[in-house]
Amino acid sequence: MDDAGILRPVLQVIEPQWVREGAGVKLRRSIGGASLDSLDPFLLLDHFGSHNPEDYRRGFPMHPHRGIETVTYMLAGLVRHKDSLGNKGEITSGDVQWMTAGGGILHEEMPEGLGGHMEGFQLWVNLPSELKMCPPRYQEIPASKVPWLNPVKGVAIRLIAGKYGNHTGPVSGIYVDPTYMDVAVECGDTFEMDLLIGHNAFLYVFKGGGLFCNTQIESTRLVVLGEGEKISVTGGLLGTRFLVAAAKPLREPIVR
Ligand code: MN
Repeated sequence: MDDAGILRPVLQVIEPQWVREGAGVKLRRSIGGASLDSLDPFLLLDHFGSHNPEDYRRGFPMHPHRGIETVTYMLAGLVRHKDSLGNKGEITSGDVQWMTAGGGILHEEMPEGLGGHMEGFQLWVNLPSELKMCPPRYQEIPASKVPWLNPVKGVAIRLIAGKYGNHTGPVSGIYVDPTYMDVAVECGDTFEMDLLIGHNAFLYVFKGGGLFCNTQIESTRLVVLGEGEKISVTGGLLGTRFLVAAAKPLREPIVR
């Protein structure tokens, strides 16, 4: 986190596509769609969010997952979930659910707005072949365990997984050693961070805009980063907010 280090270049800027998923939930898909099939080990990134309950109230009735991990991070409203093993609960604003589906799980995920508003993300992370049949596992992290940190002026981060300076995110024991965080940068201020060499990485810009690794980008866009040592983001006129995700690629064939 100093001036040294090679900035990761912007390789690709992707406009998310609107799709309907589940029983008709309207969402923006940026990984797992036509523009970007996958970014090893990330198989999918969906951004759901609306002020109109008709866009989400029918939810995601019982459906299976196997051989992957699904990561749900909520910004507003909530998702009620229950599964074939008898687990149930709700993920509300600021909460994270990291579900390792492993050998297989059936579950439903039903969104609800708060004052009509519901917003969040679901990321799918691939598992290596030797772990695809592991027992299902949940890590449910309440918002209180993912505090906003203010490392430098005008920068706020929520570290979900991975390391930032002396901080370690609450999600642990994940094979691909992921970095996953939510970052807000005010106008004219700059966020810098080292990312492990060899990890595949993307940014997902969902508010405002700014200078992302020397490229001007406005929301809503997914930014695929190339190889390098660090990232740098300077907030534009309205500031910006984005996800940072990075992980060790599995380099195995993907079976959908
Ligand atoms: Mn699901």
